[in-house]
Amino acid sequence: MNIDLHPRTKLVHGGIERSEHHEMSEALYLTQGFAYPDAETAEARFDGSDSGYVYARYGNPTVGMFEQRLALLEEAEACFATASGMAAMHASMFSQLEAGDHVVASRALFGSCHYILDNLLPRFGVETTLVEGTDVSAWENAVRPETKVFFLETPSNPTLEIIDIRAVADVAHDAGAVLVVDNVFATPCFQRPLALGADIVMYSTTKHIDGQGRCLGGALLGSKEFINGKLFEYMKHTGAAMSPFNAWVMLKGLETLDLRCRAAADSAEAIAHVLTDHRAISRTIHPGLPTHPQHNLAAVQMERPGTMVSFELEGGKPAAFNFMNALEIIRISNNLGDAKSIATHPTTTTHQRMTEKDRQTLGITPGLIRLSVGLEHANDLISDISQALDAA
Ligand SMILES: *Cc1c(COP(=O)(O)O)cnc(C)c1O
Repeated sequence: MNIDLHPRTKLVHGGIERSEHHEMSEALYLTQGFAYPDAETAEARFDGSDSGYVYARYGNPTVGMFEQRLALLEEAEACFATASGMAAMHASMFSQLEAGDHVVASRALFGSCHYILDNLLPRFGVETTLVEGTDVSAWENAVRPETKVFFLETPSNPTLEIIDIRAVADVAHDAGAVLVVDNVFATPCFQRPLALGADIVMYSTTKHIDGQGRCLGGALLGSKEFINGKLFEYMKHTGAAMSPFNAWVMLKGLETLDLRCRAAADSAEAIAHVLTDHRAISRTIHPGLPTHPQHNLAAVQMERPGTMVSFELEGGKPAAFNFMNALEIIRISNNLGDAKSIATHPTTTTHQRMTEKDRQTLGITPGLIRLSVGLEHANDLISDISQALDAA
């Protein structure tokens, strides 16, 4: 498919492989295996001289269509889809690290990514240094001769810090390391880490790419050399492949991704501006607001500031709970990127196991609410938020 087409066109037509029936909608190949026409073909598939499918742990036509479509959007050489976002993150580390290696990562991360870096890797002899991601010199200072991988998330969860991908990629490359970017909060519509110098992009496709809160999934994108080399080898033998059913759901999710993300981003911006003026709120965090500490960087690095808004209620946890319990349209949950708007209280849920001190360092206060803006009309969301703030 022509790489110069508009992303929206790629998202509708990219990666389609039609069967002999020429179906319009992408086929769901719910099969783990493939019958070979003869023994010679089976042999050729196993020695790699025939590139056809072998087993769904390594590849499946529906999963392949999803991978190709996402790679076209990302303008990546290759993509591998995984069972979940965490399977992708885990594979991005374990496929390329060995005992004695060192990783540098930003401190403000999705909880399970933090667990893999801070608890799991050290068990296998890989040390991790966590740094203040927005401070480029902190990345430089953390480098050691054995540093192999840099990992960051921008915007970060839940305080939406913006890290300079290009600057950190330069530091990583000077150190002979590769940069992996968790691009979930930004979405592939609004931020292209590979074009900014990152080597590998990671997604939880569970979020905006499914976009309707149905299936778990993940993906890694990067060079053919990495994806079809070290990563493919690791995934082939360890098994966290995306299910063909989930891939089919995600493939259809991609068709509307751009439209959905733009609609949610419009509403997020409108909500952020309303919240800024509200007396019960001490801090509104959205990269599109001029008050955001990295507002200018976000404007350069991201096409749009995203679909998430975080804000802090003056009255701490009691006010945050009263607010959430008074919501009528927005639901209390911990997913994000869903058609349905979601309010999360990080202190008592997603970041509950963190120490009070670590939460303070990250700016996760008891009054903080994370809002994932969905596809409802902005006016209804603003009314819901306003009435819940009055109740709080
Ligand atoms: C959800 C999420 C993950 C993990 O993805 P799963 O699909 O839940 O495994 C990783 N990073 C970020 C930023 C996320 O939001």
